[in-house]
Parts: sequence; structure tokens; C-alpha cells
Amino acid sequence: MSFNIAIDGPAGAGKSTIAKLAAKELSFIYVDTGAMYRAIALGLLRNSVAIENEAELLAALDQIEVGIRYVDQEQRVYLNGEDVSPLIRTEQVSDMTSRSSAKPQVRAKLTALQRDLAARENVLMDGRDIGTEILPNADLKIYLTASVETRAKRRYLEQAAKGGSYTLEEIEEDIRERDYRDMHRETAPLRQADDAVLIDSSDMTIEEVVHEILRLTSLHNL
Ligand code: C5P
Repeated sequence: MSFNIAIDGPAGAGKSTIAKLAAKELSFIYVDTGAMYRAIALGLLRNSVAIENEAELLAALDQIEVGIRYVDQEQRVYLNGEDVSPLIRTEQVSDMTSRSSAKPQVRAKLTALQRDLAARENVLMDGRDIGTEILPNADLKIYLTASVETRAKRRYLEQAAKGGSYTLEEIEEDIRERDYRDMHRETAPLRQADDAVLIDSSDMTIEEVVHEILRLTSLHNL
């Protein structure tokens, strides 16, 4: 039987960095579900799909195949066979992802893929609805968050280091908008599962959060 850890939380809480490190320590497979939603969003953008038009959205989704593979223990995400991992982190894709992931038709496309992986492997899966919808029986659930200001500052420094030109205010505004959309959508909104452990990383280092996750995991006699 596989052991499943679910990590949910808002954008910029450090989920993927932390989940990746913790998964490595545990020799678990890290599954970044956001990347799957991003790949679909890229497919929709490439085909200029009007996502509010249900028939158009359904027809487009029919032509979109998302897959993941692991290369040197890194998750790569594929859109119709093409490795699109380097193309899915732009602001344009982030914006489309947060809008298209609210569509039940989009979510339905990924549910089985995610549950299947978790049934076969020990996974540490991060996203927005893992503990609430995808893996309600996960062995350990974590809700990782941080204040909007902290998350915006982290994102700002990250993109500035890569030569990005967004201001701190613009990034904070974008994070607030994405939080709002993720938390208020009808299908699988972002919320802390009743049995999830809350970790607020505002005043914690990455190492401290990873350590806390490993501690929580060890309580399950792994
Ligand atoms: O985690 P990441 O920031 O890459 O996720 C991008 C977007 O994908 C989120 O803002 C959210 O709208 C959506 N998402 C989701 N459900 C997941 C993972 C991501 O709706 N399980």
C-alpha cells in the first residue's frame, strides 16, 4: 500500500520548494499538480480558446493530453507529447491557469491521473484540493500558508533575481487575485481540510518547514 502526503495552500507559500525537498528526504515521488493545470492552460492559450464558452472549452479539452514523467527525479509535464515544463511559469500562463482551473471540466481531466499516481506510489502531492478532494484519505495532510505580504515579497525577490520587472505592488495584487479566485470558485475551492495540520511559514525558513513535515511524517511510523 502506498503512503500519501497532501500539501495544499495558496500561491507563493513555498509549497513546491518545500515539497520537493521533503519528498527527496523521504524517497517519495513529488507530484506538482499545479504544473498539470498549467500545461492545460498553455494548451488553451495556444489555441486561443474562449474558456467561458462551454462547447468550445470541451472541444479544446478533447484535443489536450497531459502527462507527467520523471527525469532524474524531476517531474516533467507533457502537453500532447511535448515537454512544456520550461514554458508554464510565465505570468500569462499563471493567469490563465487560475481562471481555467476553476472550470469543472478542466479539473475532471486531471482527477483520475492524480489519484492513480497516489494509488501506485508513495507520493507527496502539492496543490489546492489534494487533501479535500483528490486524496481525502491521505495519511498526512498539511495546509501550508504565509501572509500575503510575505508571499509577495518572496515572489518579488525570485522574479527580480531572474531579471523580471514587476513591482512588489503588482505581485501582491496578483497574489490577492489568485487567492480570491482559488478560494471562491465553486468547484474544489482552496481550503484547509478539517484534518490538515496548519503550517504558517511567514516566520520560518525553508529548512524549518521541511523539518516540521519530516517530523509529522515520522509520527506515522514510516
Ligand atoms: O501551484 P501553482 O501556483 O503552480 O498552481 C497554479 C494554479 O493552478 C493555481 O493558482 C490554481 O488556480 C491551480 N491549481 C488548482 N488545483 C491544484 C493545483 C493548482 O486549481 N491542485
